[in-house]
Amino acid sequence: MTKPDPEFWKRQSLDTLNPAQWEALCDGCAKCCLHRLENSQTNEIYYTNVCCRFLNIDECRCTDYLDRTTRAPDCVTVTLDILKDPYWLPSTCAYRLLAEGQPLPWWHPLVSGDPETVVLSGNSVSGRVINELEVENLEHYLIDWIS
Ligand code: SF4
Ligand code: SF4
Repeated sequence: MTKPDPEFWKRQSLDTLNPAQWEALCDGCAKCCLHRLENSQTNEIYYTNVCCRFLNIDECRCTDYLDRTTRAPDCVTVTLDILKDPYWLPSTCAYRLLAEGQPLPWWHPLVSGDPETVVLSGNSVSGRVINELEVENLEHYLIDWIS
């Protein structure tokens, strides 16, 4: 039997990944679970520190992952099609990085071998965000700590 390639993302293109490899690419930062505003003229994206109501803020996990697209209609599943133009994803998102031909950063769990490096490097939203149910005007919650 062939051994799994521990650095598969370096040698395989996104369209050849199996479901387990695809899921493993997600670093769990949850930046994509934050509300963002877009300038319709320039397509510039502005992130807020307001998260989807289904995000467990402390654990940085979706509380209804299997039903997320029906429970949260705005929830986006990253697909190959979406990655054709991923400008709205965080610049650190592993899917976006690979789609744009960039390497994964040192703190990505696949590189560091430790999921905690996402937190230690300041790339997790854990504990730094507010549930959307507590917020009225998103424009008051713009942040610059997400690129
Ligand atoms: S931004 Fe990308 S890497 Fe981070 S949680 Fe979302 S899909 Fe995963
Ligand atoms: S439903 Fe879950 S995965 Fe989707 S945006 Fe909300 S918390 Fe994130």
